[in-house]
Amino acid sequence: METLKTLYALHDRSYQDNRYVYPVLSRRAGGISVGINLNPDKGCNFDCVYCQVDRTPSGMVGIDPLHRPTDIPLLLEELNHLTEEISSGALFSRAPFEGVPENLRKMADIALSGDGEPTMVPEFLPVLDALLEHRSRKTDLLGIPIRLITNGTGLFRHSTRRALGKRFFPGGAPTSHNDEVWFKIDAADPESFRRIDQSSIPFDRYWSSVTETLLELPVTIQTMVCEIRNPRSPFDPLGEWRSQMAEHIRNLLDQGAPIREWHLYTVARKTPDPSVLPLSPEGMDCLRQFFQKKVALPIRVFS
Ligand code: SF4
Repeated sequence: METLKTLYALHDRSYQDNRYVYPVLSRRAGGISVGINLNPDKGCNFDCVYCQVDRTPSGMVGIDPLHRPTDIPLLLEELNHLTEEISSGALFSRAPFEGVPENLRKMADIALSGDGEPTMVPEFLPVLDALLEHRSRKTDLLGIPIRLITNGTGLFRHSTRRALGKRFFPGGAPTSHNDEVWFKIDAADPESFRRIDQSSIPFDRYWSSVTETLLELPVTIQTMVCEIRNPRSPFDPLGEWRSQMAEHIRNLLDQGAPIREWHLYTVARKTPDPSVLPLSPEGMDCLRQFFQKKVALPIRVFS
């Protein structure tokens, strides 16, 4: 039987014959997170150094790299089936979920996440609408938050950002469902952005779009903290990176960004690049204390 630590490290996005919907035990959500993978093609506009999605030729075997329009009825059918498996307990009668402790045997959220960037998928808003409508019809989904886990880039488009805001935060505040945007910011200086997120977006353009978005949407920031022990290009999260992060997040707050929380997490799963390693619990705590002295936000560490 799997230990809790092993269960948290499992992040297999395949489940039975499903195309879109998969369960994971989530330490951040506090139970079973029902993932919606809008990117079965593994498409993403970032190439994060810590990403556990294997896009190497061997990792792409059997994967159709072309985006196919999301089959929304199929997605909802898969969601329905998994919801029933969680409420009936059937999910916990089989490996690997048979080891999940009693108090975590519950659906914690529906997470738009997956093998790529969900906001870049053309069907992103129709899928979101279908999920919201589905939840409003299903009594066993009432109160289950929908979380968008994103690198934020699709929200840089004003129309998408506005549409999301209307759905998640009508009147500027979360509804009783507490739907959330978990907005990843891994770096706040050009060099670290290039090193960690490996995106082709010029940093200045990236940061001005981040600022515009965070001034409008009440997001939770998520920051991945990792060490890179590559002798040619090492990265130390306890170096200059943290000062830049603290200063830029504080600037956002000073400008009035309604940021809700800041989550720091580290590598929990094997990454394709073996030089990318988790920061120790002591290092994570040191970082939290450093940020907490400079930024007036609730900061939570997941290590
Ligand atoms: S944004 Fe997410 S899916 Fe895309 S490369 Fe980074 S970690 Fe992977």
